[in-house]
Amino acid sequence: MDMSLRIIGDPVLRRECPAVSAFDEELQERIQSMYQCMVEEEGIGLAAPQVGNLEQLLVIGIPQDDDSLRLKAFLNPEILAVRGECVMEEGCLSIPGIRADVSRPARIQLKWQEPDGSEAKAWFEDLEARVLQHEIDHLKGILFIDRLSPEERTQLQPAIRRLQEQHGTLDA
Ligand SMILES: [Zn+2]
Repeated sequence: MDMSLRIIGDPVLRRECPAVSAFDEELQERIQSMYQCMVEEEGIGLAAPQVGNLEQLLVIGIPQDDDSLRLKAFLNPEILAVRGECVMEEGCLSIPGIRADVSRPARIQLKWQEPDGSEAKAWFEDLEARVLQHEIDHLKGILFIDRLSPEERTQLQPAIRRLQEQHGTLDA
């Protein structure tokens, strides 16, 4: 399976992902491959379109106090409610080297399906809420730079252009 990282300008990053309906062996393999890719790239979250798969699947790996990683997969996630607002610096494996402060809700209530298809619902906060919102955006074809002001985006444009030239994903 080709799990190479897709870089901004690749059209797969701008598509809306259909829901996952088959909770089969192949899905478990894709989840494991995504964990592997995320850990190798030293990311704390990864969404399926970032490795070229259009499906509502994301994984997170938040470092814990004991330095271990808490790996978790979310299928068909849906934000049910949000609370508060906070600004945090974000980066993205698909936009390497570029970081910016992004304002998002501080807490989210999420419903999703586990890798076995069972349904789950919970509140998330802090870094976990941040990463989940960033990755859920990916499933809708939204990148974190879309959430910046037009002025901030204009400022980043030369760096993004260089990145796209480097990776051969410059828009026509
Ligand atoms: Zn990202």
